[in-house]
Amino acid sequence: MHLNRRLFLGSAAAATASLSAPMLWGQTKPRVVVIGGGAGGATVARYLAKDSQGALDVTLIEPNTTYTTCFFSNLYLGGFRTFESLQHGYTKLGAEGITVVHDMAAGVDRAAKTVTLAGGQVLPYDRLVLSPGIDFKDDSVPGWSLDVAEIMPHAYKAGPQTQLLRAQIEAMPQGGTFCMVAPPNPFRCPPGPYERVSMVAHVLKERNPTAKILVLDPKDKYSKQALFEEGWGKHYSGMVEWVGPDMGGNAVEVRPDSMEVLIDGEAEKVDVCNVIPGQVAGKIAALAGVTDDSGWAPVDPASMVSRADPAVWVLGDASAQGDMPKSGFSANSQAKVAAMAIRGELTGSKVFPAKYSNTCWSLIATDDGVKVGASYEPTPEKIASVESFISATGEDAALRKATYEESLGWYAGITADIFG
Ligand SMILES: Cc1cc2nc3c(=O)[nH]c(=O)nc-3n(C[C@H](O)[C@H](O)[C@H](O)COP(=O)(O)OP(=O)(O)OC[C@H]3O[C@@H](n4cnc5c(N)ncnc54)[C@H](O)[C@@H]3O)c2cc1C
Repeated sequence: MHLNRRLFLGSAAAATASLSAPMLWGQTKPRVVVIGGGAGGATVARYLAKDSQGALDVTLIEPNTTYTTCFFSNLYLGGFRTFESLQHGYTKLGAEGITVVHDMAAGVDRAAKTVTLAGGQVLPYDRLVLSPGIDFKDDSVPGWSLDVAEIMPHAYKAGPQTQLLRAQIEAMPQGGTFCMVAPPNPFRCPPGPYERVSMVAHVLKERNPTAKILVLDPKDKYSKQALFEEGWGKHYSGMVEWVGPDMGGNAVEVRPDSMEVLIDGEAEKVDVCNVIPGQVAGKIAALAGVTDDSGWAPVDPASMVSRADPAVWVLGDASAQGDMPKSGFSANSQAKVAAMAIRGELTGSKVFPAKYSNTCWSLIATDDGVKVGASYEPTPEKIASVESFISATGEDAALRKATYEESLGWYAGITADIFG
C-alpha cells in the first residue's frame, strides 16, 4: 500500500493513532473521504479540492495506481487505440492537494463515520462519497463465475481482462465462432456490448473473414439497436447473429471446460466466449448498507446524496438515480453536482440547482461513429431525461466521421477533467 502526502502526520506511530480515532484532535478542516478513483470518484475529489481552495481535506481511496478506462476499451479491441492510451495515473490529483491512498476500502461504519481499509487503517470522515462502479452477480449466467474469467473473460472492468479478450480474438481459428453473452438490464454502458460486437467484427473482417459472431441476449431490445443493425448489415454482412429471448437468448448456460454454450439446452461449441454477467453496485456500497434489494444504491436526484444516510453520497454506476445510463459521462456529471452539494454543506458555498448531461458515442466501423444523449433534471422521484437526441439511420459518411471525431475530443476532454 502506498500512502502519499498528508496522511502521515509526523511519525508513523502518530499517524496510526490519529487514523484510528474517529475525530482528529485539532482538526481544522472538514474531511471528505472518497472511495473509488474512477470516473465519478476522481472527478468529485478534484472538484472538491479545486473549488474549496484548500478549505476541505479530501482523501481518495483507490487500490490501483493506474486507472484503465472502460470507455474506448472497445476501440482497443478493434485496433483503433493502444492499451496505453486508455491508462491514467493519479499523480496530478496528488499535486492538486488530494491525499491519494492506494488501498481497498474494506468496510464503512456509518454510525462512527469511519472507513476501514484492507491495510487496517481507519479513516474518519465528515462526508463520505462512494463511487465503486460495478460488481458481477454470481448466479447471473449458469456455469460462469469470476473463477473462470480467465477462460471466458468479461472484459467489463478494463485492464488485463480486456487484453486477454483481444488475445483470444486474435488467436481464433479461421472460420471460428466468437460468442458474447450479453447482460440483463440495468448494466454499465448500455451500448457497450454492441459497440464491442462491431469492433470484434471489424477485426475479424480483416483477419478472419469467415468467422462468426453469436450474440446471446436476454433482452428483447437494446441501445441504438437500429443503428447497430444497419451498420452490421452494411459493414459485416452475414457475420453477426443476434439471438434474443424468444430464441433462447435468456436461457443460456456456459461450460468453460469444453468451451460450449447451451442455448435453451442445446450445446454449441465456440472459440471465444465473452460473458458479460448481470451487475450490481460495487461491493463496498452493500457493505456500507446503502443499497436496496435491487443491488443498487438509491440517491436523492437533486444532490446524489444517499437515501439511506445524509452524510454519504453515491455516484456513477453504483447509484440508482433514474433515467441516466451507467456511463463515464454520467458519473462525471453527477460528481460535479455532488461536489457542489457537499461543499455547500461543509463550507457554506452557494449551491445551484442540479443539471446533468450524458452522451454515449459508439464506433461501428472505421470513421462510422454514432451517438445518443440527453440532458437531465431532478424530480422528487428520479433524475429525469428532459431532452434527448440520437444519430439517425442512413446518415452520410461525412456526418458519421464527424461524430467519431467528436468522440475523440470528448475522450481527451473528459479524462483531463477526471484525472487533471
Ligand atoms: C466496454 C465498455 C465501454 C464503455 N464505453 C463508455 C463510453 O464510451 N462512454 C462512457 O461515458 N462510458 C462508457 N463506459 C462506462 C463507464 O466505464 C462507467 O460507467 C464508468 O467508469 C463509471 O464510473 P464509476 O466511477 O461509477 O466507476 P469506475 O469508473 O469503474 O470506478 C470505480 C473505481 O472504484 C474502485 N473501487 C471499487 N471498489 C473499491 C473499494 N472497496 N475501495 C477502493 N476503491 C474501490 C475501482 O478500482 C475503480 O477504479 C463503458 C464501459 C464498458 C465496460
